[in-house]
Amino acid sequence: MSTVKSVAVGVELTGRGTTVALVDRHGKVRHRLHAMTLRGRPAIATIEPSLRAIDTMLSHALAEGFKVGGLGVCVPGTIDFDRRRPLLLPTLPSLNDFPLCDFLEARYHLPVQLRIDVDAALLGEHRFGAGKGVNRLLFLTLNAVVGVSLVVDGQLERTAQQYVGHISHLLVSTNGPRCSCGKRGCINTLVSADAMQKMVQRAL
Ligand SMILES: [Zn+2]
Repeated sequence: MSTVKSVAVGVELTGRGTTVALVDRHGKVRHRLHAMTLRGRPAIATIEPSLRAIDTMLSHALAEGFKVGGLGVCVPGTIDFDRRRPLLLPTLPSLNDFPLCDFLEARYHLPVQLRIDVDAALLGEHRFGAGKGVNRLLFLTLNAVVGVSLVVDGQLERTAQQYVGHISHLLVSTNGPRCSCGKRGCINTLVSADAMQKMVQRAL
């Protein structure tokens, strides 16, 4: 099999929508599509537009002569790794406990891997980006809360997969702003997207 023509389909599910990407073995995105996620509907209805985007992507791959090796799906929340399904997705609750991997494998007859979004981003940086070739890599995300994921000895730390990766209340400044947890100076009150939004609002 030609390595150039060998690809995978990456699917990022979020409460705001879904990105579907055709990625080659060098980490290069060859084609990208976007779809809505229909929040508040049952599980399959929630991801129906995403499924159509995956259908379109697989047709595109076939037409372009690409060989799709599998699907990689990431979700914003926790995962039940043994049962290969989302456990708790605050922004897409209808997918909680939905057998996502089994469902997609039955539909597409391709192997499916499910990851937490932060871990998927870390693995991407480790394999193809800023952390390429390094043995230890720490990845921070600054969204509504601060998340962390870790590669040690070239492997994703298992603890990060169980959302120990939430470091919102790590103390970084003893006289920082008051946090929702009652303490002062948690990292979440200083560098999260919410914290920065509050700082801008106060400054205006
Ligand atoms: Zn706190």
